Amino acid sequence: MLLPKFDYHAPANLEEACQIMAHYGDQARLLAGGTDLLIALKKNRIYPSQVVALDRVGELKGVGIDENGLYLGARTTAAEIMEIDFGPGGEALVQAASQVGSPLIRNLATVGGNLATAMPAADMAPPLLALQASVILERYGDQREVELKDFFVCPGEQVMLPEEVMSVIYLPQLPESTGGAFEKLGVRKALERSIVSVAAVVSLAEDNRTIVDARIVLGAVAPTPMLATEAAGSMIGKKAVAKNFAAAASIAAREARPRGLRTSAVYSRLMVETLTIRALTRAFEAASK
Ligand SMILES: Cc1cc2nc3c(=O)[nH]c(=O)nc-3n(C[C@H](O)[C@H](O)[C@H](O)COP(=O)(O)OP(=O)(O)OC[C@H]3O[C@@H](n4cnc5c(N)ncnc54)[C@H](O)[C@@H]3O)c2cc1C
Repeated sequence: MLLPKFDYHAPANLEEACQIMAHYGDQARLLAGGTDLLIALKKNRIYPSQVVALDRVGELKGVGIDENGLYLGARTTAAEIMEIDFGPGGEALVQAASQVGSPLIRNLATVGGNLATAMPAADMAPPLLALQASVILERYGDQREVELKDFFVCPGEQVMLPEEVMSVIYLPQLPESTGGAFEKLGVRKALERSIVSVAAVVSLAEDNRTIVDARIVLGAVAPTPMLATEAAGSMIGKKAVAKNFAAAASIAAREARPRGLRTSAVYSRLMVETLTIRALTRAFEAASK
């Protein structure tokens, strides 16, 4: 399959990228790792007249700390994320990144592209939601911050304007006694998008047994990655023990809104329950270390 014709831009920095996007608006598409965009182009699902490559835009790369907390450049790849220590709870993101596609895909796939594509099964979205991330969206002469919980709209759609570029993702520093985990079910071991995924992040009280904060996020079982708020809320103030994890998991299964596309809704809910128990158990183990 051939690529359609388009003009190719290779801005040297973020300002230049924003300038080009401001000029062309919805005729232009950003290109990061290309693992989603090139397929969409080849399959004639989109016809941008302009493609704006981000590979020279250094501001979008890597990790650091500034006055707002820990930031992760949108062009950081899944393979790079696997090598980063994000602090308490960050294990969930590292585990999710390590399960994206194959080694080849992980070397190309960026976190910004994973979020911008807004697929319900995007693996890096659930842990980032569980870690209470927000994204910075830049446009020429302006920028805004959007909490990730307000970012996704429906499959394939998020709140970004055509001319906006995601620059960084902010992760708040969570308490030391916090742990995270990510669980995924795919048909095959590699190269497989999630059928169901669950990210869990829990924080413990000083006794190392009582849950003071929890987030459970479900992937691929609703039109967007979704916070299972009732399930997470049910654990606050309770002991981190198997029966409480099981109770929360059964609430999460009820909260899920599977569309029954890749597997039956009944099976999806069963898997939500199983994966939630596993994710909570592993998140607790990480928190109590
Ligand atoms: C064989 C295969 C297996 C896969 N397996 C998985 C999997 O297991 N789990 C999973 O989650 N995904 C999987 N994917 C999907 C894909 O790899 C991810 O969604 C990837 O993270 C997208 O990032 P990218 O850098 O390649 O984005 P691109 O393809 O470059 O871009 C994707 C979209 O995001 C936009 N975009 C990119 N960067 C920015 C930015 N900084 N600001 C604004 N918009 C931006 C682009 O304009 C485009 O619309 C798989 C893909 C393939 C081909």
